[in-house]
Amino acid sequence: MQDGVIAWLRAAAGRVHEQAPSLTALDQAIGDGDHGINLDRGFGAIVAMLDERPAPEDGTGDAAATADLLRQAGKTLISKVGGASGPLYGTAFLRGAGAIAAATDPTAGAAFVAALEAAGGISALGKSAEGEKTMLDALFPAARAARSALDGGGNLAAVTAAARDAAAAGAEATIPMLATKGRASYLGERSVGHQDPGATSSALLLAVLAETAAAGTSDAAAATA
Ligand code: ADP
Ligand code: MG
Repeated sequence: MQDGVIAWLRAAAGRVHEQAPSLTALDQAIGDGDHGINLDRGFGAIVAMLDERPAPEDGTGDAAATADLLRQAGKTLISKVGGASGPLYGTAFLRGAGAIAAATDPTAGAAFVAALEAAGGISALGKSAEGEKTMLDALFPAARAARSALDGGGNLAAVTAAARDAAAAGAEATIPMLATKGRASYLGERSVGHQDPGATSSALLLAVLAETAAAGTSDAAAATA
């Protein structure tokens, strides 16, 4: 599981870097125009952390090592990213780490769903709920879709694909919403008609995760073929 998370974080950093200008453009419309810059800085710091990180010691359980890795990534986001999104994403990673460490069902799909559901706990930090035009509008539908895919017997590739699709739809659904949290809320009615940057970056991170999971699944299939 840990290798998959490392692959996801590295691929996410690349995609965030590539998409930083468009995330920033979304934030220029309804915020202060730094969302892409913020995330690019944060994921760049995560890659630096991964490069410096010693190989995990033998005997460390995979769930424990994965949780530790996510915890370090979360702390990196909190310390390196200014703005609302750093503490929110960082805390989402810390919450997800906690869920993985405590996971009773060791399958990767179940651990991912538990982590995504736990990440939703950032609504307490942001004092925000679904429907307020924030990243929660991508993350909450993604967690629900992932849970139903898992309940339907889906493996990691299937649950992450369900999360990706729901997050993309959720991000798009923020366009007509009125922002009532974060900087966009200062615009009032003028926030309507623009897609939320944070919901867009959440959808992007989940899209990269689904790609990573699909590649991992086909690698595993090739290895056992
Ligand atoms: P800042 O708004 O401080 O400039 P960013 O531009 O990096 O930070 O991130 C903005 C994004 O953070 C928004 O698009 C929104 O999705 C998310 N966000 C802001 N405030 C909240 C909140 N209270 N709860 C959840 N998400 C929030
Ligand atoms: Mg901003």
